[in-house]
Amino acid sequence: MNITLDADKCCAAGQCVLIAPEVFDQRDEDGIVVLLDAAPPADQHDAVREAAAICPAAVIKVDE
Ligand code: SF4
Repeated sequence: MNITLDADKCCAAGQCVLIAPEVFDQRDEDGIVVLLDAAPPADQHDAVREAAAICPAAVIKVDE
């Protein structure tokens, strides 16, 4: 799995961080998403897929 972000579109809603806190974080100053692990281990994959699916701005792209 490889994750990329289009952070310019991020609306700082934070759902990704709630679902996969080991993979996503938010910048302190404005809440924009930060990618902690672009190639997370298998036990994180379901959470990452869910985060990508529910992101309201379609910021998270996942290549399997
Ligand atoms: S869920 Fe999407 S819009 Fe919300 S903080 Fe994460 S990447 Fe940004």
